[in-house]
Amino acid sequence: MAPLRRRRVPADSGYPARLMLEFSPHAGGLAESQTLAISAAAKRMRAEGIDVAPFAAGEPDFDTPDFIKEAGIQAIRDGRTKYGPAAGLADLREAVAARMASTGYEGLTADRTVICTGAKGALYLGLMVILTPGDEVLVPTPCWLSYPKMIQAAGGTSVFVPTSPKDGFTIDPEALRAAITPRTRAIILNSPGNPTGAVQPDEVQAAIGELAVEHDLAVISDEIYEHMTYAPVRFRSFADLAPDARDRTLIVNGVSKAYAMTGWRIGYGAGPSEWVQRMIRLQSHALSGPPDINQLAALAALEGPTDALERMHDTFKQRREIMMQALQKIPDVTCSMPDGAFYMFPDVSAYLDASFEGKPIGDTSTLATLLLEHAHAAVVPGDVFEAPYAIRFSYACGPEDITNGVARVADFLASLKRPATT
Ligand code: PMP
Ligand code: GLU
Repeated sequence: MAPLRRRRVPADSGYPARLMLEFSPHAGGLAESQTLAISAAAKRMRAEGIDVAPFAAGEPDFDTPDFIKEAGIQAIRDGRTKYGPAAGLADLREAVAARMASTGYEGLTADRTVICTGAKGALYLGLMVILTPGDEVLVPTPCWLSYPKMIQAAGGTSVFVPTSPKDGFTIDPEALRAAITPRTRAIILNSPGNPTGAVQPDEVQAAIGELAVEHDLAVISDEIYEHMTYAPVRFRSFADLAPDARDRTLIVNGVSKAYAMTGWRIGYGAGPSEWVQRMIRLQSHALSGPPDINQLAALAALEGPTDALERMHDTFKQRREIMMQALQKIPDVTCSMPDGAFYMFPDVSAYLDASFEGKPIGDTSTLATLLLEHAHAAVVPGDVFEAPYAIRFSYACGPEDITNGVARVADFLASLKRPATT
């Protein structure tokens, strides 16, 4: 890329004669989202005819159900092509409030909801309006890669609180407590979680609610994988489990994952009036509400028949078994069965001190690159999720892709030169 031109400014302007183009260390200092970048690389390779196992995909491989598409098409025919309300369509806000009320958020009213550009939009606006530069946010790890970046964009600092595969990635509320400082402003909770698939036990979520009240902290509960929990574990919203913390909690959810609508970009947030109103005001300036067309499709999803949703859920459940069986065959790779989402997060640390063609592997990013190039398996390295010992496999793909792709991963790992064990 050609270097950016420096701007010349008049000598009497009070500015230095030459201005360097500078960027914000917050929003301007971010690296690209690796989940999106690796998935895009895998899609490109597939388009070139290479049989790449799409384990990096953070999206269902199903098509959006027809009745939802039809609602979007009808909205175009009806001329719903103008600016809409900054908070989102009233009918959709009503449907969101009703849906959340039915999962235990009693008394939630539509005026305390906001419709955003994906769940990402709600998370981003939610963080932007509560954080002051220098504020700290407690982020249990492994964590979805965009939380720390959004926190950075808002001028905040992430304080990572590790969980362990040995405990099924369950958060220890006492570890959270120990990480609290006078600058701590919020806690991020994500259950079922990405990248681990872990569902946080009810009592842990209740304890986090108590901690938030005791230390006057805000909570952002990202519940985007609500519809992907596998029996006997069932989903319960943080709003239901920690009612005393509702006046300091933003619940984030959306239609992307449950209804195979990732590209429609509709998510939402619900919480205390003041928090939500400030998000709406920021959205009104920065983005405006999402397109009516997409919101009307999301409304159809929330109000329509649930059979497609159930079918997708059951398919994920079957694939979870297939993926687990395949991963268990790889020597020295350990993985526990996740209760939710559509990811597995096996520990591959036994292979990080191996070498390929004479070069040491060293980290999961290098391993993921080698797997893409040599095993034609797209995975996301744990490095990007603050978990440098694991790699993420999505099972949002067909059973053949799972079996063949994991077999290629197994063969590649078996081909590595590992230090002799004593
Ligand atoms: N939260 C988590 C945990 C996710 O995995 C994703 C995946 N995209 C999102 C939020 C964002 O969802 P959306 O596509 O609706 O913005
Ligand atoms: N959330 C998904 C993932 O983690 C989709 C990609 C993204 O938005 O980051 O892969």
